[in-house]
Amino acid sequence: MSRGRENIGFIGLGNMGGRMAARLLSAGLPLVVYDVRTDAAFALAALGARRAGSPREVAQQCDIICTSLPGPQQAAAVFLDGDGVVAGVAPGAVCIDFTTNAPAVVASIAAKLRSAGAELLDAPVSGGVEGARNGSLTVLVGGSEAALQRCRGVLEAVAAAVIHVGKTGDASICKLLHNCAVFCANLATMECLTVGVKAGVAADVLIDVFQKSGLGRNLDLQVAMPATLFQGNFEPRYSMELAYKDMSLAVELARQCEAPMEMAERCQREMAEAVARGWAGRDNTIFLTLREERTGVQVRQTPKTPEPAL
Ligand code: NAD
Repeated sequence: MSRGRENIGFIGLGNMGGRMAARLLSAGLPLVVYDVRTDAAFALAALGARRAGSPREVAQQCDIICTSLPGPQQAAAVFLDGDGVVAGVAPGAVCIDFTTNAPAVVASIAAKLRSAGAELLDAPVSGGVEGARNGSLTVLVGGSEAALQRCRGVLEAVAAAVIHVGKTGDASICKLLHNCAVFCANLATMECLTVGVKAGVAADVLIDVFQKSGLGRNLDLQVAMPATLFQGNFEPRYSMELAYKDMSLAVELARQCEAPMEMAERCQREMAEAVARGWAGRDNTIFLTLREERTGVQVRQTPKTPEPAL
């Protein structure tokens, strides 16, 4: 069945969602937005979006409703509260949850949407704020093929790769385990870099070697760490609080499956210490400075000077 021009909703306009919503607008899609931070909604309204007063109002006006929220608690509230998406959604609508969410919460939201005649795709993303800004995210999708095909225009406006991984909830499992592997790899990387500096090699040299060797084909080592940790700048691109949430959800998933996860538990403890020090709102790479503290060295890169204009 061919549908007319569908109205798109976007709830959660933060570091990722704000940039993704801006891309949908520049692709010419009609957008209705909501965020508890009214300034975030006004910023999108200035680009042509319509503002709604609640998640329910977004759902009442839209055929496809996107969410990009901090985590399971906020996602449950946005969908299931009295003024939430489920209370306003029309039969036939599809929700795309870009949140890195807990599989159990995804399942309960999907069940409530199903009772209302709507469908959920869990669609966590990878690629950071640059990917969100330039539409080069990788999006993992769990849900029906029909819902995915219907949402393809929206997904392809924000992502360079759309991977259909299976049924609703499977994408969240893939995403949590991927992020868990990234944080463990970052911790191992920093353990080695601090030892290298302590052993007498310049941080600039070590970073260059790591970036140009096998480990280097890694977005964190190529983009995230040079913009944050290696400059000692912890303005949040991906906050410590959200990274710790992802890690804790992955460890919890392993517990539910009765699978051992020793490295992840070690990394989670390091992240818990960073949060306990009051660093929740800083960039997640700040937890790696605990390695520096324990080794008594810093791993900082000389800022690159721009090429002179010819
Ligand atoms: P963020 O904290 O910057 O943005 C979340 C937004 O949700 C904020 O604008 C907040 O005001 C809004 N919000 C919170 N509760 C709300 C509610 N009840 N109703 C409406 N809006 C509400 O987070 P982010 O960095 O944009 O991340 C969003 C999701 O994407 C998270 O699940 C995160 O784990 C995931 N993620 C982030 C990155 C990254 O690099 N930042 C990369 C991949 C995935």
